[in-house]
Amino acid sequence: MTVNAEKPVTSVPTWKGLPAAQQPEYPDQDALRAVVAELEACPPLVFAGECDQLRSRMAAVAKGEAFLLQGGDCAEAFDAVSAEHIRAKLKTLLQMSAVLTYAASVPVVKVGRIAGQYSKPRSKNTETRDGVTLPSYRGDSVNGFSFDEASRVPDPTRLTRMYHASSSTLNLVRAFTTGGYADLRQVHAWNQDFVKSSPAGQRYEQLAREIDNALGFMKACGTDPAEFRAVEFYSSHEALLLDYESALTRTDSRTGTLYDTSAHLVWIGERTRQLDGAHIEFASRIRNPIGIKLGPNTTVDEALGYIDRLDPEREPGRLTFVVRMGADKVRDKLPELVEKVTASGATVAWVTDPMHGNTFEAASGHKTRRFDDVLDEVKGFFEVHKGLGTHPGGIHVELTGDDVTECVGGGDEIFVDDLHQRYETACDPRLNRSQSLDLAFLVAEMYRD
Ligand code: PEP
Ligand code: MN
Repeated sequence: MTVNAEKPVTSVPTWKGLPAAQQPEYPDQDALRAVVAELEACPPLVFAGECDQLRSRMAAVAKGEAFLLQGGDCAEAFDAVSAEHIRAKLKTLLQMSAVLTYAASVPVVKVGRIAGQYSKPRSKNTETRDGVTLPSYRGDSVNGFSFDEASRVPDPTRLTRMYHASSSTLNLVRAFTTGGYADLRQVHAWNQDFVKSSPAGQRYEQLAREIDNALGFMKACGTDPAEFRAVEFYSSHEALLLDYESALTRTDSRTGTLYDTSAHLVWIGERTRQLDGAHIEFASRIRNPIGIKLGPNTTVDEALGYIDRLDPEREPGRLTFVVRMGADKVRDKLPELVEKVTASGATVAWVTDPMHGNTFEAASGHKTRRFDDVLDEVKGFFEVHKGLGTHPGGIHVELTGDDVTECVGGGDEIFVDDLHQRYETACDPRLNRSQSLDLAFLVAEMYRD
């Protein structure tokens, strides 16, 4: 490990004087300072060299040579840090990746919304139930999900729990992805508990047979590459809580530059992307690949501003624009941004998040999304890029490996009346495993066409 873990960042508190949206109001600042000091002394979760490697993979995405698959929970939860949950999520991503790689014949860069996705920006500061109003839940890193006064008080010691939850999650993810579980020859095994019950599972089984045949053919020809035995898998989350992200920023002893070692890639959300705000300032100081969520009101000047602030060297792979405009807006709003960004000479990766612009409340009160809207936003995103001759670089989705009922539609259709059956998300509704696989097949078709 060449990252200098002893030397916390003290030279870049430049974000501190700036307006920082969506930060918790801790009642006890001394307790916060103690936690930050503790985190500054902790080992990094990722190695700077891995972040560089992901930046080079994202450069391939930006140049049209690879496709990004980024997915995981809206909000990870401390009590879901279990082998079962982590394996199910990873398995879903591996299956989606097999579908995309094989059916679209494109290298897939695999990035989880995992091992750090514990902090949530909220559109409302408070939540009211049965006449009682309390502060909103802001993710397990900030306060408790339970609707009672004590749980909703921001508690800085949760930042330490986030670090340890991220660390044990990442440890298991690394074990699964390099220790044999992700071996492409396991392509059938990932589907075992699934195939009989679902149309997506059956379709996948067919594709897995074809992959098997291809592997058998290659082996017979005398080639059995190491690449098939392990996968490169990266972690990512929204860099929302700057006290945490800053405390995990380290000087890389190889290069003397700063890396946020809480994840390989971090992104700035739609609600915190102010050009003169603390989040963009923080992101401008670190060398990790950076994502920015772009909602339907993003202006050309803002998009160009992010390039100037975050990618002054115009380095492919540094900056990813994650577009989340909504199925009804993406065809109108995206073309001008893509045109002007392309004309600026920057080579950014364009990725679609077809989830966050398509959320609505069902009559039952459940926050949900229609599978068809999700798909339509992806289609719109692809249409815009095909029209302009630019590269639709990937998808960013909220999903889980569990058979939840949070989004409606899909091949194994979930109806509005089913939502209550397994509605388990701590925040936004996620695609379940079958819906995720459906989406992967449909995206592969779009990419190929
Ligand atoms: C999210 O990714 O969960 C999120 C809050 O997204 P956005 O910033 O795009 O609203
Ligand atoms: Mn979300």
